Amino acid sequence: MRLSRYFLPILKETPKEAEIVSHRLMLRAGMIRQQAAGIYSWLPLGKRVLDKVCRIIREEQDRSGALEIMMPTIQSADLWRESGRYDDYGKEMLRIEDRHERELLFGPTNEEMVTDIFRSYVRSYKDLPLNLYHIQWKFRDEVRPRFGVMRSREFLMKDAYSFDIDYEASKTAYDRMFVAYLRTFERLGLQAIPMRADTGPIGGELSHEFIILASTGESAVFCHKDYLSLTTPGSEVDFSDAGQLASIVKTWTTPYAATEEMHDEAAWNALPENERVAARGIEVGHIFHFGTKYSEPMGAVVTGPYGKDVPVQMGSYGIGPSRLIAAIIEASHDENGIVWPRSVAPFEVGLVNMKPGDAQCDAICERLYAELEAAGMDVLYDDEDTRAGAKFATMDLIGVPFQVIVGPRGAAAGEAEIKVRADGSRFTLPVDGVVARLS
Ligand code: ATP
Ligand code: MG
Ligand code: MG
Ligand code: MG
Repeated sequence: MRLSRYFLPILKETPKEAEIVSHRLMLRAGMIRQQAAGIYSWLPLGKRVLDKVCRIIREEQDRSGALEIMMPTIQSADLWRESGRYDDYGKEMLRIEDRHERELLFGPTNEEMVTDIFRSYVRSYKDLPLNLYHIQWKFRDEVRPRFGVMRSREFLMKDAYSFDIDYEASKTAYDRMFVAYLRTFERLGLQAIPMRADTGPIGGELSHEFIILASTGESAVFCHKDYLSLTTPGSEVDFSDAGQLASIVKTWTTPYAATEEMHDEAAWNALPENERVAARGIEVGHIFHFGTKYSEPMGAVVTGPYGKDVPVQMGSYGIGPSRLIAAIIEASHDENGIVWPRSVAPFEVGLVNMKPGDAQCDAICERLYAELEAAGMDVLYDDEDTRAGAKFATMDLIGVPFQVIVGPRGAAAGEAEIKVRADGSRFTLPVDGVVARLS
């Protein structure tokens, strides 16, 4: 992408309305624009990051065996009456009436709808296990939308729903998602800690929130310091091996970890003081086993191995890609701007032409631009005739992991300079070596 043809509305001033750093930086870097309270447009730079985050989420969902579908944002109130949630959900639900006075709503989540899909087609336990997911916009009329896309009213969610014949099988479905989440967050460059979450009226212990530690987090969290050094399962995990999955989950749920609501003072106080981490946290994912809460009232039954109809055991598994982007920035920035992990960076390389119009600089930049793109890298080529200081400030602000700087002196010597955004280190190398070095 050539900067001269790009739409990158950088803000010079720090927006006053933004209380936390991720919100400030997303506005300043021209990633998002607020259209109404808690409702945002995603501008080109932001959209690129959102797509990369979703791609990683999708790859890990697919790897675990979940199947992608796409359900609509608008749902019928009748479906929610079947589960009894239409009245329970309260003011967070945006209720809509169409021209025929039919009651609709903008989906805050999709348990009812996916249960309806399931019951319409699946008849036998032989078709299980099944896990269906989608990545779709949700609307929740939050009392206090704030912090930009961290707590917005319209937000993106990946929500998956598992269907199994009995508790044991659904526990394995839960473990599958648990492990897929560990891998997803690691690939996003985040350290997310699974913490026991409240299961509410359903009971049981199968609910975890995945929490990123950050000073701006909305909830107080408590965990053992061992979490900070646990290894994440690699891509070789066998998602069909229930025992292997269960043992990974055990490792990741054994040390103490709880959010405020689930905090157990006695267990906490029993830990040596130097092993305790008390911090603030951001909820980026939440997984939940709820058994037959929806399948029973909605008649989602299958014929079991002995010919008897049983309601399916279900779970749901959410991740918020839009909130995640804010969380990544909270975890990874400095005084100059965002520091993207390479996996989600809008561009991996910022190619800086220090003197557009100079024949040698232009020739080298054009060549590097073509070669880096041909090598599969996303490149933002700053081909504009602006001050050096402004060029670097922009690249720093938008957090491009590597800057490749081509100036007249280096160009004459056949050299380029590379700046690594994460640690600010710089080194010079022959133009011929740039692509290999960054691949
Ligand atoms: P919170 O406690 O922050 O209100 P929640 O528990 O209501 O979140 P869930 O219903 O568990 O959220 O939804 C799954 C995921 O969707 C959350 O873990 C989060 O990543 C994301 N999410 C929920 N609400 C919002 C929101 N208002 N803005 C952005 N992302 C959200
Ligand atoms: Mg909420
Ligand atoms: Mg929550
Ligand atoms: Mg939650």
